[in-house]
Amino acid sequence: MENLITSHLKLGLIAGGQLAKMIIQEASKWDITTYVLDADDHCPASSVASVCVRGDRFDFDDVYRFGKQVDILTFEIESINVEALHKLKSEGLKIVPDPAILELIQDKGAQKDFYRQHNISTAPYQIYADKAEILTAIAAGQLTFPFVQKVRKGGYDGRGVAVISSAAELENLLEGAAVIEEKVDIDTEIAVIAARNRRGEIRCFPAVEMVFDHTANLVEKLICPSAISTEQTHQAEQIAFQLIETLEMIGLLAVEFFVDKQGNVLVNEAAPRTHNSGHHTIESVLTSQFEQHLRAILTLPLGSTRLKMPAVMINLLGEAGHTGPVRYEGLTESMAIEGVKIHVYGKKITRPSRKMGHVTIVSKTMDESLAKAEQVKKLIKVKT
Ligand code: ADP
Repeated sequence: MENLITSHLKLGLIAGGQLAKMIIQEASKWDITTYVLDADDHCPASSVASVCVRGDRFDFDDVYRFGKQVDILTFEIESINVEALHKLKSEGLKIVPDPAILELIQDKGAQKDFYRQHNISTAPYQIYADKAEILTAIAAGQLTFPFVQKVRKGGYDGRGVAVISSAAELENLLEGAAVIEEKVDIDTEIAVIAARNRRGEIRCFPAVEMVFDHTANLVEKLICPSAISTEQTHQAEQIAFQLIETLEMIGLLAVEFFVDKQGNVLVNEAAPRTHNSGHHTIESVLTSQFEQHLRAILTLPLGSTRLKMPAVMINLLGEAGHTGPVRYEGLTESMAIEGVKIHVYGKKITRPSRKMGHVTIVSKTMDESLAKAEQVKKLIKVKT
């Protein structure tokens, strides 16, 4: 008798955003009972979870009490009260990925130190305690423009990152302890999601290329396969493989890379969870990242990561100037186009640049997928 896939298994998910929603959609195929902890009763995962628990993921007691209700605990976001996770683990709860890995990744300084210790190529950096220390280093000529400042903790989706190109931009310096990185002359940004289960089996999803929208500070479009060389793809996959193996982690590790103008492949950062860059896998890969996450944490065989068709993914972002109850335009027209798959997360309120959904476009060729993506971008608007 199988006891891993059964409605008797209570899987807990911390935070009920779109990533949790898509994990639960996969979990329901295997009849797993899902619990979600979120501060918002109407969070995206609330429409699909078996049980929703209202609570604050930063609060020790809320996280601890939630953990006590489930058999296995995972998360869709890095910013969580990690002390509560440590206590739950010490009392025997299975938490995947391990809280120690979460703690390492929560701190961009510790994360960069880890790359340096393990000879994983990353942009040169230094760690500063606060803004004053950065200004002193500039005055002493120890730090020169341009550079990129990243707050050590709490940054998300480009918030917590400041590119400082001259003295005039110093007013944009962020408060708090930070990593200061050399500004990379970026040619392309790519991501590779690796998966590892308890048996040590590892598989990587094909590299994806992220096209960045600098105004919204978000990934605007993602393409798979990426247009970078086979050698660079292989290098990125090797690094993702090495990282997840070195960390001995169970679950998914999404690794973001810069490919610079000289062709070097550098790790930017990693996230120990399902990732925006893997949404296309639902339609375009034999195993989606959400199913793979479940396979990894439930000690099941990892699924094939073979690409079925070239894919483009676009995020559906709230239009500028629109804040309030959401209204979508152009969904029906887009759906009429072959290979266009729409995902609406179910967030009730839209805000400028808020991720409200995504669309994956699959076709026989990348050119066709790209052309259809442009059509969809013109058709769909997220407004109030
Ligand atoms: P977040 O964790 O908030 O997503 P990232 O570290 O990914 O932050 O940085 C956001 C974006 O800022 C990157 O996708 C990239 O475009 C730019 N960026 C970050 N670090 C550097 C760097 N060292 N050099 C040049 N651009 C950078």
